[in-house]
Amino acid sequence: MKKHYLLTPGPTPVPPGVALREALPVLHHRTSEFSAIYKDVVEGLKYVFQTKNEVYVVASSGTGAMEMAVVNLLSPGDEVIVASCGNFGDRWIKIAEGYGVKVISVSVEWGKVVKPVAIEEALKSNPNVKAVYTTFTETSTGVVNDVKAIGEIVSKTNAVLVVDAISGLCGQEFRTDDWKVDVVVAGSQKGLMLAPGLAFITLSDKAWKAVDVSKISKFYFDIKKYKKSYATNETPFTPPVTLIVALQESIRLIKGRGLESMWHDYKLLAKAARAGMQALGLKLFGEVPCDVVTSACVPLEIGGKIVKTLREKYGVSIAGGQGVLKGKIIRFAHMGYIGKADLLVGFACLEMVLCELAVKIEKGKAVAAAEEELLKD
Ligand SMILES: *Cc1c(COP(=O)(O)O)cnc(C)c1O
Repeated sequence: MKKHYLLTPGPTPVPPGVALREALPVLHHRTSEFSAIYKDVVEGLKYVFQTKNEVYVVASSGTGAMEMAVVNLLSPGDEVIVASCGNFGDRWIKIAEGYGVKVISVSVEWGKVVKPVAIEEALKSNPNVKAVYTTFTETSTGVVNDVKAIGEIVSKTNAVLVVDAISGLCGQEFRTDDWKVDVVVAGSQKGLMLAPGLAFITLSDKAWKAVDVSKISKFYFDIKKYKKSYATNETPFTPPVTLIVALQESIRLIKGRGLESMWHDYKLLAKAARAGMQALGLKLFGEVPCDVVTSACVPLEIGGKIVKTLREKYGVSIAGGQGVLKGKIIRFAHMGYIGKADLLVGFACLEMVLCELAVKIEKGKAVAAAEEELLKD
């Protein structure tokens, strides 16, 4: 009977209208009925990604699209730059090295943002670099990177810019074409308000030139297969039909609200979440906090306990730290179908849990501070 509140940076809650669609009878995918829906979905995705290029839908988690962005652009022995500032940035390194690609790292300490100047210098001293890989909102730490500045730099070279926007898309201003990003990957279970299971990838003309000479071997993730099927409003393999049918509804909701208005709303939620954390005496973590998740430092090693107690006692799920940040930070998401009321519930319960764990706080202070910000809207 427990009511659940999903305030994690993926998966995120699914709006009722989208969830109902996920429950409809399964369509056959080689039918005009499904193709019509698919056509509408991929057109809508162009708006979501702010691109005129095709966006491909893949049955996998977001990481599958990351892997596609490696195996389709490179050949073994190629050199790439990875600008990482956290767990998900480091994933680019692991994938690339796994395929025999040489990684030049311009990574920074977790919690910092990547330095566009460092990317510029690395590109100058390594003129053979085929691609630059980085992350938009680094969900593991809660920072946002200046993708626009990086796009300016990389677009002046022969390298293609690949950005993981898995958690940031829909949640914070992101413009694929205007910011000169060549390849963008995303997933269904964060800003897009859908169950996990779909990944997305879009490529610029410059990126397609890299695809033409790529020699890494691939089958399921071969982007050329997706492009070919796209022409007939199909996917190369059996797609998760129900998720795509549901995606049509979530895109309808996104278009209805408008991206600009969504970006505005999450910015407000982020301000309220930061105010709430600070009111509890918790130091914010991260050099440039993003708008989709708020990270705060917690007293020595109780991060895990906070997360566990919140979930078990109150049904509220937030996230703890990953890797070196395990137990040291908590991460409170405000992406997708998470609104003002959810935020207040989350902070009220967080206050109670901190009291139970004997952290000295003043009850009601975080909620009051969050309300103060939310009322500014
Ligand atoms: C969630 C996330 C991923 C991983 O996505 P999966 O769907 O779990 O594979 C990668 N990068 C970022 C920035 C994320 O937030």
